[in-house]
Amino acid sequence: MAVKSGYAPPICKVARLVAAIIGMPTREIFTKLGIPPEEPKLCLNCSEPLVKQNRFFCSRECQMQYVRISLICEECGKVFYRRALKVAHDLGEKNYQHIWCSYRCHGLWLAKHYGFAVYPEHAHKRKHDWERIWQLHLDTGWGAPRLSKKLGIPVSTISSILWKKRSTE
Ligand SMILES: [Zn+2]
Ligand SMILES: [Zn+2]
Repeated sequence: MAVKSGYAPPICKVARLVAAIIGMPTREIFTKLGIPPEEPKLCLNCSEPLVKQNRFFCSRECQMQYVRISLICEECGKVFYRRALKVAHDLGEKNYQHIWCSYRCHGLWLAKHYGFAVYPEHAHKRKHDWERIWQLHLDTGWGAPRLSKKLGIPVSTISSILWKKRSTE
């Protein structure tokens, strides 16, 4: 059988092929042939060893997670970085309309725009403002469970407010 001239597969490739054929661990073949063991490349995001050594990430998700984009906080104006995947998820799937750098800024923003107390324990002390809760629901698209969590008001209270507002609008 004629061998094509100029065809010289890298020794590592041959060693890996031989290992696969005879069912011997690649490492053993490498030591037998006197090839220094390869350092496995790791995923830049999760540090898992990579199956395909010519890649930088183990998966598309890791690649997305690794990429961070710069954003400007709507409350404090600070530039901050967040994983692109999370931003896409928040704006897409969760349908968020606004972006803040922290829970603190989120709370401050809510207080300024809707008059809610920054800390949930204070929310219990005031009489819940139906209009504001309804407006927040319309602006954010948040359902009762999410509003309840954000405002520290029992979900049953929120649900009944939303239900009453819906039936009168
Ligand atoms: Zn990974
Ligand atoms: Zn901020």
